[in-house]
Formats: sequence, C-alpha cells, structure tokens
Amino acid sequence: QIGALPLADTPGGGQPNVVLFLRDLTSARRLETMRVDFVANASHELRTPLASLSGFIETLQGPARDDPKAREQFLGIMRMQARRMTRLIDDLLSLSRIELREHVPPTQIVCLKRIARQMVEEKAPLAAERGIVLSLEAPEPPYPVLGDRDELLRVVENLVENALKYAGGGGLIAVSLGREDTSGSRPAQLTLAVRDEGPGIAPEHIPRLTERFYRVDTASSRQQGGTGLGLAIVKHALNRHRGRLVIESEIDRGTTVRVILPEHRREDGMEPHGVRPV
Ligand code: ADP
Repeated sequence: QIGALPLADTPGGGQPNVVLFLRDLTSARRLETMRVDFVANASHELRTPLASLSGFIETLQGPARDDPKAREQFLGIMRMQARRMTRLIDDLLSLSRIELREHVPPTQIVCLKRIARQMVEEKAPLAAERGIVLSLEAPEPPYPVLGDRDELLRVVENLVENALKYAGGGGLIAVSLGREDTSGSRPAQLTLAVRDEGPGIAPEHIPRLTERFYRVDTASSRQQGGTGLGLAIVKHALNRHRGRLVIESEIDRGTTVRVILPEHRREDGMEPHGVRPV
C-alpha cells in the first residue's frame, strides 16, 4: 500500500509537502491468514475430543446407565480423550511461550551431551517396553552451546518421542552428537541427530512437517498421542538458538532428524568465563 499525507500547504501555491508511507500488505495479510488458520485448527483439534466426551456423557446418563461393563469401558475412553485435550493445551501453551521468547537470545552455557544423555536415560524404559534399543553415541569433548536448558531438553524430547511413536516396535533409535569445524571465523557447528529405523516419511511431506498441526497421517498421530505441534515447537526453539533442523528420510528405511547449533566459544561471552555448562 502506498499513501501520501499532506503536511502543510506551501506558501505561494506550490506543491504541498507530503510524507509518503509504504506498507507491505502482503506480509500483513499472510500473517493474519496464518493467525486465523491457527485459531481454526486449534479449535477443531479441541472440539473433536470434546464432542466425544459429550457423546459418552449422554450415553452414560441414558442407555448405559445400568450397564457396569459399558460404563467402565466408556470411562476409560473418556479418560483418554481428557488426556488428549490436556496434551494439546500443554503444547499450545509451550508453543506460545517459546514464540514469545523467540527474539530474546538465550544466555546459559549448556552442554548438548548432558541434554542428550538425560533424555536417553529418561526415555530408555519406554523404549525397552517397545523392544527398541535407544543408544547414545557421543565422542568426547563436551558440546557447549549458548542456550536455554529447558527448551533444548524439550527439542530433544520431541525428536526422541517422535522416533519412539512412529518407528513401531523393535529396531534401533540412535541419538548421536558430532562437531564440524567451519572455515574462517565462524563458530564450529554441533550436531545432535536422532535416527530411527521406522517407516520413513515421503519427500513431499518433509518441508511441511514444522507447520503447526501438519501431520502425515492424522489418525496414526492421534493414536500415538501426537498433537501435530511437536516439530513446530522444535522449530521456534531452534530459531531462538540460531539453530537449524534438517530432516532426511527414506521410505521403509527410516528417518534422521538433525539439530544443528553453533558451538559456544569463550569469546562469545554472555556468561563469565569458567562457568561449567549445565
Ligand atoms: P505429532 O504430535 O503428530 O507427532 P510433530 O509435529 O511432532 O507432530 O510431527 C509432525 C508429523 O511428522 C507427525 O505427525 C508424523 O506424521 C511425522 N513424523 C515426525 N517424526 C517422524 C518420524 N521419526 N518418523 C515418521 N514420521 C514422523
């Protein structure tokens, strides 16, 4: 949009002074469409379990009132639906908190290896239950990044949980760390990769996976307790850390999701030297 504001008439009948203003309506409109879509999608996602809960309440008050077996079964389903709504609301809140902080650079020195180790230890029992071997490969030395520990834990948690959710039973999930020197004065790149041997993702879906609520197979995601917000949370957290997400996948072979972050160097400052990474 281009407009002109008259400032004052020039004496003697000349051209009036004007201030020209230029506004990019395309991006404003795109943002507005995204916002409206987001609200519509979030409402739809909440409405589905809510409708199911209302249906079961009616059934329990009516036809199933005197049927203890049906009551027990319906209450189990209702518990699941309530949990689904809780997960969705938790993820929506996490996403909005992370988005709010997106432009505030993190200030803690965090060791990526500790984050990876903590997550592997936390998820090992669930992996074992599913007959999956969850391994950590992290050669020395430590992996310091300037970060927010809780956000980075959330990033790794989402990636490991996805591998566990979609890889099916059995097989291997490998979490590995690496360091790549870059030429010149740029900091080295640290990589945290989560590799699974699951069904893989078709190439046309990969660019859209970090969109909110985008899922390759909505039914399977819901069945696994997914909300469709996990990778959107990862993307926004990585934006704050000046990091990148790279997803590689091959149908029937598996998926590797890599998080790439700049290594923290002493001269980058922020915290006093000698602080141990958390
Ligand atoms: P969800 O809560 O549905 O898991 P995400 O944003 O974490 O949402 O992931 C988006 C979609 O990407 C998932 O619904 C799933 O279809 C696909 N996906 C993510 N990780 C994997 C993986 N490791 N293997 C196969 N598909 C995956």
